[in-house]
Amino acid sequence: MKHSTWMAAVGALSAAFACPALAQTVKVTPLGSIDGEFCAQDRALVFEDPNGTRILYDPGRSVAGASDPRLGKIDIILVSHMHGDHLGNAHNKAPNAGTCDKPDMSVSDLPNSNAVNIALAKKSKIVTGSEMPPFFAARLKANGGDPANSMLARFGGSVTVGGVRIATMTAMHSNGLDPDYIGGELGKAMKEAGIAGDVGLPTGYVLRFSNGLVAYLSGDTGITADQDLVVHKHYNARLAVMNIGDGFSTGPVEAAYVINDLVKPASVIPSHANEVGTVEGKVRPGSKTEAFMKAAKVPVHVPLSGKTMEFDAAGKCTAGC
Ligand SMILES: [Zn+2]
Repeated sequence: MKHSTWMAAVGALSAAFACPALAQTVKVTPLGSIDGEFCAQDRALVFEDPNGTRILYDPGRSVAGASDPRLGKIDIILVSHMHGDHLGNAHNKAPNAGTCDKPDMSVSDLPNSNAVNIALAKKSKIVTGSEMPPFFAARLKANGGDPANSMLARFGGSVTVGGVRIATMTAMHSNGLDPDYIGGELGKAMKEAGIAGDVGLPTGYVLRFSNGLVAYLSGDTGITADQDLVVHKHYNARLAVMNIGDGFSTGPVEAAYVINDLVKPASVIPSHANEVGTVEGKVRPGSKTEAFMKAAKVPVHVPLSGKTMEFDAAGKCTAGC
């Protein structure tokens, strides 16, 4: 066989054996407060697996309730921990209501939470770790939903829903349930005493999508050894969603250390900046978002609300970035 013919044969063979799943992408769409911007309250992201499974991560307050037209079908809801800016003690009156700095979050979701109300309307599974599932099961049941839709994935274990493998990760944070979700005499007494309900430890997540992409969602956390030992060395996450807000969790410098030296993904999406991160879609000079971008050694993709980004199995952004 002539060399050129042999090379053509090898080429045809590798094309035949190339896995089509590798070419498939996971779509990530931020559901923030203001279209095209990265705003103070923004946490919510929708992940869409190539197989169509749609996952809503930390709806918080920027998703304008269950009737928010941006939601569409939601198969799974993830809640990293019970604080109001993640679970959703209130929500935006409508997408784009208010300003990037102060969105109009005047619609209360107590005692259910934005996450539970969306799950009820969409018949979604809620997958949480630690000791959070009984809270969600009780809320679903109290509102005519199916308590079995609240599913557990405790540290080290995982559940596979809609073809996506979901594991929870340690997060160094706190996780008190505000007595406003408890209500009644008990809730009132707890509030007066200044204590919160115990629903176990807060979490992050590691997702493995059907195309092979592994994503780490940090939740609110400090720096932990597990970000190297588990997220990097065991799961080898290629995409990270990293909270950078400081004060409540890692700030831009600490978050960049986590990304550069511990998780080492191919791409990172900053989240939970608690600031006006962008103006007219451009990163605001002097912002924490800018500081994080300067310190991170991997491509940083700022989550602009409504703008879909696509990531391949290797964690590379292939569209929308
Ligand atoms: Zn938070």
